[in-house]
Amino acid sequence: MRLYNSLTRATEQLVPVEPGHVRIYTCGPTVYRYMHLGNLRTFMLADLIRRALRFEGLRVVQVMNITDVGHMTDEASPEAVDKMLLAMEDEGLTPEEIARKYTAAALEDAEAIGIELPDALPRATDHIPEMIALTQTLIERGHAYVAESGSVYFDVTSFPGYGKLSGNTLDNLREGHRELETDPTKRSPADFALWKVAGPGRVMKWDSPWGPGFPGWHVECSAMSMKYLGDRFDIHTGGTDLRFPHHEDEIAQSEGAVGHQVVSVWVHAGHLRLAGQKIAKSTGNVIRVPELIERGLDPLSFRWLCFQTQYRSEMDFSWDAMETADQRVRQLRRHMAGWAPVADRLGEAAAASDARFREALAGDLHLPGAVTLVNEVDHSATIPAPEKYALLASWDAVLGLDLEREAKAGWAPTDAMRALMSARDAARASRDYAAGDRIREELSAMGLEVMDTAEGTKVRPRD
Ligand SMILES: [Zn+2]
Repeated sequence: MRLYNSLTRATEQLVPVEPGHVRIYTCGPTVYRYMHLGNLRTFMLADLIRRALRFEGLRVVQVMNITDVGHMTDEASPEAVDKMLLAMEDEGLTPEEIARKYTAAALEDAEAIGIELPDALPRATDHIPEMIALTQTLIERGHAYVAESGSVYFDVTSFPGYGKLSGNTLDNLREGHRELETDPTKRSPADFALWKVAGPGRVMKWDSPWGPGFPGWHVECSAMSMKYLGDRFDIHTGGTDLRFPHHEDEIAQSEGAVGHQVVSVWVHAGHLRLAGQKIAKSTGNVIRVPELIERGLDPLSFRWLCFQTQYRSEMDFSWDAMETADQRVRQLRRHMAGWAPVADRLGEAAAASDARFREALAGDLHLPGAVTLVNEVDHSATIPAPEKYALLASWDAVLGLDLEREAKAGWAPTDAMRALMSARDAARASRDYAAGDRIREELSAMGLEVMDTAEGTKVRPRD
């Protein structure tokens, strides 16, 4: 598989550190609020990479962290508001209860849109000793210092590669970060916190060699990725807004601690936009999975909607597009039911489509290309129905649309049958019984038994 590497700004062949085995780390949810569809698009990227690699027979291990401490404190605000504390005050829950509540909601939403859960979901609060150890290593290796305030900072001038991911130079970082300086004892405004001294009113705090405090946000991902995946692993995913400072800082920490490159490929998902605005808590235009369900949409259809846009590009969400995607997924499931049973081998045309589907995935996970192939197979006049079924059932291991749902639930009428059934119901509703009977004959001529029920016309194959 070739993937666009944000670090080298080039599409590169993935060469796993260990042949045949790919290790992926994904920046996961921050659990003091609900996930919105923009967050979920990012998590889906990692899910799709994992599914596509497994589809090609590779072994994949994926780890996703749960941020339940750390950037709860917004470094940019002078009051350093603890967002977990705000949520606690709002909801009358303890930090652990808030973390549990929003972790469960995040995983439930992820599963509803077909994201397969990672192999490990480490929580930041369970890894404070690892973060303290990493911070100590960075101090010993001359990359970090204890400021007079008692907080520990990474000295960005000690790491020559700082800025290589985001393209920021130290000079413009100093410029850009001047207003963010909240600790006057920091050596440089561009330095970032590894450990922060606990202020008054701080609820989540731990003992450390530098006194009671709590870890900076970035250090959790360095500590947990290397604990679970080793100090050389293959893919790191996240939303594009994490590129700086989060991932830039993670590179400095991890590489500063071990002295060599840790992550081979950095993959970033583009923003989801609604009416031209980035979907974000701060813009107030948040859409969540339960809202899809409330509107009668299948949450898996959100996958099909996302597939229309390359993962790195910004994507526009609209309810119209979401409804079109929902109808298309339901239609494909009905077509599958009509194509069953599955062929046990593929003819030439089907095999060629299969090869092109795999090429699309291998080319930087090109889902829009995969969508084109699904549509081509659906409309193909040369591929026999049982082979169409075989292709889509196999591809669904990556697409995750539950395309066999209707086929497995039993027989389902085709679109043409459904059109006749609605026409018959309409005729009968307007008391045109002659037309109703004519359509009954048409359905019957298709080998169907026609039944009148409270919900209107139903059909099933005649024995
Ligand atoms: Zn992270």
